[in-house]
Amino acid sequence: MKKITVLGSTGSIGTQALEVIEKNGDLSVCALAAGRNIKLLEQQARRFKPEIVAVYDTSAAAELKAALKDTGIKVLYGESGVIEAAALGADIVLTAIVGIAGLKPTVAAIKAGSDIALANKETMVTAGPIINALCKKHGVRLLPVDSEHSAIFQSLGGAPAGALKRIILTASGGPFYGKTREELKNVTVAEALNHPNWSMGNKITIDSATLMNKGLEVIEAVHLFGVKPSDIEVLIHRQSILHSAVELADGAVIAQLGTPDMKIPIQYAFTYPERGAFLDRLSLSDIGTLTFARPDTETFKCLPLCVKAIEMGGLYPAAVNGANEQSVALFLNGKINFLQIAELNAAAMDNQANKVDYTLEDIFEADRAARQFVIDKIRV
Ligand code: NDP
Repeated sequence: MKKITVLGSTGSIGTQALEVIEKNGDLSVCALAAGRNIKLLEQQARRFKPEIVAVYDTSAAAELKAALKDTGIKVLYGESGVIEAAALGADIVLTAIVGIAGLKPTVAAIKAGSDIALANKETMVTAGPIINALCKKHGVRLLPVDSEHSAIFQSLGGAPAGALKRIILTASGGPFYGKTREELKNVTVAEALNHPNWSMGNKITIDSATLMNKGLEVIEAVHLFGVKPSDIEVLIHRQSILHSAVELADGAVIAQLGTPDMKIPIQYAFTYPERGAFLDRLSLSDIGTLTFARPDTETFKCLPLCVKAIEMGGLYPAAVNGANEQSVALFLNGKINFLQIAELNAAAMDNQANKVDYTLEDIFEADRAARQFVIDKIRV
């Protein structure tokens, strides 16, 4: 029986992860953590009977404690509560908190020796080298959950070390594929949230519309697979069936295909190296055509911005990520227009001074400064 802790259990990835656990008899829940949705957290706690439930929002803690009084489940709260849940010593900790808020709990889980099923890409974007070093030190495996990175991981299955030449990272193109900058000026939040293929949390859905998500994934891939940014080719693949591919030393290209369903990569991270329950059948004859095209990096500037950030290295990825979290929040609240997201992210990155040797504290400071820069910029 593998014990799984789900951080971000009330979100899109978290709820699908619990469905996967329910489908696989040899998986059980160790701890659950979420931000503030205590109604759902209570239901999940009653169904999956974890040892610990943690809620980040301290004001919701008393209500959750009262609601779970009859169960004997320990209720923790605040950032320290989420970190304690992460460090409980599960076999696998799924990091599905959104944003850099996922970083500290992931570090705690690694230090406790749990393998990491990594959905929270912001962890690798902001702190990839530190996370890789920590995993090595504590003998912990990083199992990618992002569908593209899971596809790369699966495609590399039989390849000898050193055989990876190039990564082909696919992107759906989001709801605004083919639009001009002029057309993007006045798109609404509802239009940006209307993703053609995937149902996800709001932040990543906006990131998909700007192609920031693909940029973050380029950075994530650099750290997960040890390649250079120039070894990654992003291709727009509207059908979201080929989840990514690898080119090996002899020119062979190996890809993983499947329906656009996050349960497959989530389950593979949980059951690796075994294969879990059957989830969904892909019918290629129903799909008929798979298409591939180069991204429009003149219109969708967040993608080249992230490539620039990882090429410059150091604290630039943390700065661009922090700026983006802030600008996406402002867009969702109707405070800025769609094109301003990329403009603010670029300006915040320009404002960042670099540092070659940096610590987790430096990363949090770069994140804080970038967010503040974005807020100050729209006030002017
Ligand atoms: P959601 O917004 O749907 O869910 C986020 C989860 O994080 C919720 O459970 C939320 O709790 C919780 N949360 C937020 N802040 C905190 C905090 N400070 N402490 C503890 N929990 C917190 O996001 P997604 O599930 O879409 O995405 C999660 C992560 O997975 C992101 O990093 C994303 O990039 C990545 N990812 C997502 C994919 C998807 O298909 N959705 C695909 C690939 C990667 P509450 O709801 O209670 O506030």
